[in-house]
Amino acid sequence: MSESGQGFRLFGRTPLYVQILIALVLAVITGLLLGSYASTHEELINQLAIPCELVLKALRALATPLILLAVLHAFMTTEIPGRSGRKLVWLLLTNTLMAIFIGLLVANLLKPGTWGQMAPPSGAMDTNKTLDPWSLLRDTIPESILKPLNDNNVIQLIVVALAFGIAIRGLKAIQIEQGRSQYRAIEDVLTMLLEAVIRILHWVIALIPFAVFGIVARTIALKGFEPFKALGGLVIAVLLALFLQACFYLTRVHFGSWVSPRQFLRGGTDAFTTAFSTASSTVTMPLTFEGLVEKVGLRESSASLGALVGSNFNNDGTALYEAMAALFVSQLIGVQLSLPQQFIVVLTSIFASVGAAGIPEAGLVTMTLVFSSVGLPTEYIAILITVDWFLDRCRTTINVMGDMAVSCLMDGKHPKTAAEPFLQEAIATEGESM
Ligand code: ASP
Repeated sequence: MSESGQGFRLFGRTPLYVQILIALVLAVITGLLLGSYASTHEELINQLAIPCELVLKALRALATPLILLAVLHAFMTTEIPGRSGRKLVWLLLTNTLMAIFIGLLVANLLKPGTWGQMAPPSGAMDTNKTLDPWSLLRDTIPESILKPLNDNNVIQLIVVALAFGIAIRGLKAIQIEQGRSQYRAIEDVLTMLLEAVIRILHWVIALIPFAVFGIVARTIALKGFEPFKALGGLVIAVLLALFLQACFYLTRVHFGSWVSPRQFLRGGTDAFTTAFSTASSTVTMPLTFEGLVEKVGLRESSASLGALVGSNFNNDGTALYEAMAALFVSQLIGVQLSLPQQFIVVLTSIFASVGAAGIPEAGLVTMTLVFSSVGLPTEYIAILITVDWFLDRCRTTINVMGDMAVSCLMDGKHPKTAAEPFLQEAIATEGESM
């Protein structure tokens, strides 16, 4: 992801969040000025939403290839040593499930979507989509391989991605055993395609300030500030949920590893501040690794499993946010998500967080899939864009904290001893000579 990781900015070196803040200020002024023409020029003011509609359309289009390629790439390239594999998967899964549980719990208790009122956006709404477990099961297998990509059907996409992922990983293992290396060509193609999608994503993300300007100016001109009250509720609820997730990590690290919460927080300071300021867990990865090895004192093997492997698909903060956003919008439009629907939100949030690249705003892209899987109108994501620049930073910090927690738990209950590197070397040489 190295090459594509370099963000593309329309306005030179100005960071994206500064651009979004400027867009917000300009939008408030424009919205207030246009407010007095709302009754006479409504049609014209509505056109301000066009940049946002285009950005959302592009994000929706990119979401499916991004998830498919990210899952295939992870299956193809991730090296997990034998026994650690199962423990790692268990830790990653339980952390993510806990994050989604906390997110849904806080959203259900605080109901931030009821804090303000918002009229439905223009565009199609499909919230009456009823889901029963049987039709869900029947719907898991696509009629053709490419159909999920075409329909943006996330459940079917997951099935296709998993099937191909497991198959090519198995084929790779057979080829390695036989001393063949044809799998490398596929690996290169997958890496290249994934980087290309991320690169295009950067271009779309660079347009977000225009989208924010248009949608906020239009909303203020036509409806005033009322719609933003609910957003304040969402920000508070997400911050609270992320805080609870951080507490969960600290407790788990305390009981499941030799690292104390204090050591954990001290060792991660650089990584946390970098995650918050860059909104990218991929960019932060080297600091996460360094903090774990140099400051906390973990074994390199555990640090690399959590920080390097985990950062590919361990995005608990993103999973938590996506599930909360779905519930928030359902509350906002007064639609009760049934139990099967909440189950789908959990399932798709897991994969949406796996598919979210460690770059700014990636969660926004995959969120379109979570929304469409339960029939929520993706048009509402437009309104979330206004606060996403801030929430992205917060959830990225939690993503990084999650990678660090997994590393500590992988390191176990005993710190490494001074003799350990020599021991490991000796075991390795012995293994080679046998
Ligand atoms: N920015 C996040 C990260 O880099 C991903 C997201 O948008 O949720 O981890």
